[in-house]
Formats: sequence, C-alpha cells, structure tokens
Amino acid sequence: MTGLSGHILVVILRSVTEGGETWSLTRKDRVPYPMAMTTQFLQAGTVAGCDPRLTPIIQKVESGERLSSADGMLLLETQDVWTVCSLADQVRRRMHGLTTWYNVNKHINYSNICALSCTFCAFHRKKDQDGAYEHSMEDIRREALAAVEAGATELHIVGGLHPWLKFDYYTDMMSMIREIAPTLHIKAFTAVEIVHLARISKRGRDGYEGILSVLRDLKEAGLGSLPGGGAEVFDDRVHDEAFKGKIRGDVWLDVHRAAHAIGLNSNATMLYGHVERIEERVRHMLLLRRQQDLALASWADSNGIITSLDPDEQSADAIVLTGPEENYSGPRLPVTSPDGVGEQGWFQTIVPLPFIPDNSELEHLPGPIGLENLRMIAVMRLMLDNIPHMKAFWIMHTLDMAQFMLQNGANDIDGTVVWYDITKVEGAGTHQETSVKDLKRAIREAGFIPAERDTLYRPVIRDGRSWTIDSSG
Ligand code: SF4
Repeated sequence: MTGLSGHILVVILRSVTEGGETWSLTRKDRVPYPMAMTTQFLQAGTVAGCDPRLTPIIQKVESGERLSSADGMLLLETQDVWTVCSLADQVRRRMHGLTTWYNVNKHINYSNICALSCTFCAFHRKKDQDGAYEHSMEDIRREALAAVEAGATELHIVGGLHPWLKFDYYTDMMSMIREIAPTLHIKAFTAVEIVHLARISKRGRDGYEGILSVLRDLKEAGLGSLPGGGAEVFDDRVHDEAFKGKIRGDVWLDVHRAAHAIGLNSNATMLYGHVERIEERVRHMLLLRRQQDLALASWADSNGIITSLDPDEQSADAIVLTGPEENYSGPRLPVTSPDGVGEQGWFQTIVPLPFIPDNSELEHLPGPIGLENLRMIAVMRLMLDNIPHMKAFWIMHTLDMAQFMLQNGANDIDGTVVWYDITKVEGAGTHQETSVKDLKRAIREAGFIPAERDTLYRPVIRDGRSWTIDSSG
C-alpha cells in the first residue's frame, strides 16, 4: 500500500472506437460540461490561419474527454501547430500549474558493446571495434561515488546488450551501488536489456514469468525504476526495417507491465522521425495509453481507491488525468508514498525522442527538426492523457529548444546529466552536462517555477550537496 486512500479517480466513460476496436466504457462521475472555455481556443476554428477541423478536439480537451486515434492523426497532420501547442499548454497548466521539475542526476553507460546492430543506433560497437568499452565494477563504483559527491539523487544506467557479461555483473552492480550510495535512486536497464538479462540468466524461455523473475532479482539488489528507452515505435513493419533483432512492441510493453506489477515505476519513450508513418506514431501512443489505464486501475485498486475499472478483466476503461479541475474530487495524479515503495507501479513520464541520424545507418534520413519536435511534445501530451509527466529531454533537443517545449506541454526538463553517450545532439561532445543554475534559468525564462524532484517526482529539499525528500506535502 502506498498509504493513500479516499480519493476517487474520475473515470470518463463512454463508448469509443479506436483503431478498429470498440472499447466499452462506463461512466463513473459525470460533471457538468464546463462553459468557461478559453477564448483563444473557442476562436481557433474561426480565426484566419487556424484549422476549423480542430474545433471538436478543442471541445474534448476542454471537457477532459479522451481523444481518438482520428484526433491523433489530425493533430499530427494539421498545419495549425500553434493551436495544438496551445491546447497542450492548457493541459499541462491544469495538471501541474507553473511547477516545472528538474533533477540532479548522472548517467552511466556501462558498456557500448552490443550483440545487435540497430540501423538507427550510433552508440553500439562490436568487441574489437574502435571506441568499444566495458566498465569494470571499480569504474562504476568510482562513478557512483562521484555522483554522491556531486549531490546527485539519481543514477541512470543503461548499456548495449553485452554478449559475454554474466547476470551477476548486473546484480553486483546494483548491490554495490546500494551499499556505497544508499540514497541514490537507481533507474536502470531498458526493456530490451531486461529481456537480454532474462536470456543470459536462462529465463528467456519463460516469457513473462522469466521477465518478472529477473526484475525481482534486480529490485532485490537495488533497482528503483526503469527508464523508458528502447520502445522506438510499436509497429512490426518499423521494427523489421529499423531495429530488427530488437524486441517487438508487445514484449517492451510486457517488460513494463511486469515492472509495474512488482511496484516499480517506469517511463515511456517514442523514437520518432525515422522510417515510421504518422499512423504508426498514433498506434504507439494508443498502446501506451491502454496499458497505463490498466496500471492505474491496479494502483487504485491496491490503494483502496474506487474506480469502475477492473484490471483483472483487462477492461479498457479510460482514466483521464488531464481534464479540468472540477472533474476531480481528490488529487488527480497517482501519488508515490514518502518511502517510495508501492505495490503497483505506473508510467510516470513520457519522453519523446527525436531520431538523430548522425553516424547511424539511417544517416541519409533528415531526422525531425524544430517545429516537428514541438508538435510531438504537444501531441503526446494531449493523447497520453493518463501519463502524469512530460519531459523535454534537453540533451537531445538542446536546452534552448527544451525551453520552448515547456510552453508546449512539457513540465519536466530532466537533469544535469553527466556523461550521456547514447545519442548526442549533432556536433556536441560526449561529455554533456548543464548546471542547476542553467536549468533553473531556462525554466524561469519560460515563465515557470523550477522545483527539484527525485526520480519518483517527490520534491527535494537541498542544501548544497546534501538533500532530503520533502514529505510534508
Ligand atoms: S539500440 Fe540498443 S540494442 Fe540496438 S544496437 Fe544500439 S545499443 Fe544495441
């Protein structure tokens, strides 16, 4: 139990048809249709330059109604990007007010040696290739101590699918960090790494149970949550063209379902702008959204909170967290307990990742730029109405661009990020970090209030390198 009880998640109930499937929904807590629609949005269908086809979407967002796949297609196609961005900004302000989160974290890429060769990946190396590396336990120990010394609250650890490292390497890594830095939250291993660990620990044939078992071992050793990488785009055609050999979308979702089932929170990404079509982007969002409905229903259930959802029946009722204030009779977002331990986890953050072609096998593709990146932040904020947070991952967008994204749906600018080797903004060096001062400045200049969080979005009280979790609120 996370200790929270007594509030009711508002469940918006209706019948919708999305992607050819009819989802039967029932209504729990109907509230009157709010009349105070923002003038800007009411006018959107009539002002020159605005797309009148967006009017029904504007009305749905205003009332907190879930958007359909057709809505998602229109949001991705319309030339009226500014209305799309304004809607996402409205939703973000409803959910988070002016608060914008940052964190103090350190990334460790333990090895770039990988058994696979995804075409979009500029990170991986083969064992004897120039630039291949593999960190020893002592290297990682040093990095963890440096993170503590720098006042970090989080270690973010990912790497390639190393062909020879044994499962013990990974559990030893967790245990060692837990021992020397007990306050550091360990966010580690993408879904594809978890499946790889199931294989090398001879649990690969056990499917979902094998994944659960691996995650339990890692959690026992110190793992605190999962990052969202490796999702790419949930579509078999895209998979076969761009990352054949990597796990498919259903397996990625299974890994996160298993993590949630043992109380680990996780994050969700979409790597867009390579070989996918926009309908495949929409489908990716719908699959994430559907899984999150079930995760939140289980979380509510484990906390004695009433919803009309029955996670055991795999119902597809919608839990919408983005509606107007009057739709909620209690806190709108799922809450992490002060000790950070819960029975059921959920997707806490959406992280849209633009494909950066440099040095990959898809270098001939242009990759998405400015306006498209703004649009994706906004559309994912609107479509993924049940995922609490939206991150503008500055390391891939630049801090300047991330600032714009805060005004277009994002409420998190990520962290100070020391040593990020996976994907770099064109021309940038490997060693990328920024200061808390610069993050705060970027947030303030965008018109928001900076607040430091830990990995689980608990507020942090800081005094130089020392910090504690603020459990007062
Ligand atoms: S994306 Fe991941 S799995 Fe694919 S080649 Fe790169 S490191 Fe390996």
